[in-house]
Amino acid sequence: MKQQLVFATNNTHKLSEIKNIIAGKIQLLSLSDINCYDKIPETANTLEGNAILKAKYVYNRYRLPCFADDTGLEVEVLNGAPGVYSARYAGYENNSEANIQKLLQEMNKKTNRNAQFRTVIALILNDDELQLFEGVVTGKIIRTPMGNQGFGYDSIFQPDGYTQTFAQLGNNIKNQISHRAKAVNMLCQFLLRNIQ
Ligand code: IMP
Repeated sequence: MKQQLVFATNNTHKLSEIKNIIAGKIQLLSLSDINCYDKIPETANTLEGNAILKAKYVYNRYRLPCFADDTGLEVEVLNGAPGVYSARYAGYENNSEANIQKLLQEMNKKTNRNAQFRTVIALILNDDELQLFEGVVTGKIIRTPMGNQGFGYDSIFQPDGYTQTFAQLGNNIKNQISHRAKAVNMLCQFLLRNIQ
């Protein structure tokens, strides 16, 4: 029987991204696959803390190997904000337009536009083993949103080495170079090495 592994998410896009890489070896389960409909707390003040909280929540209740992720946009001149608070920077959960407007306002007079997206994945395989994987993509915050693909802050983030935003580049390119892709690749390489 294939090793089962829970991804503490119901985001179908994230699930299929990882299934494509490891499905042959591992049976990947979502939260709904294990009948978990709880609102899992994300109350830590770091990406690492939140990823660990979510993975531990699932592992402790279901005793199944699992992993969880957390992502933030870290802006240099704002000392890493919005960071772990990226989803609710403007005060409401996942209102991308309001979040972008707030960030552009905060950066209105700033000439340093350096920023990075960072994803942290926490993996728990058993009581003794917790592994962290990190993926980073650096870039610039532009002054006016460009492009209509993607989500979140994609329309104002221009990755280094490109002249377009993630929202203009589209998913094919984004998925090859993104923070999440890098963290997921590291996770998958680890799993392929460590799970028969
Ligand atoms: P999550 O941890 O993946 O849910 O991400 C938290 C928040 O960060 C999201 O609500 C988005 O605002 C932002 N975010 C995460 N990943 C991306 C991305 O790939 N592009 C743009 N924004 C993102």
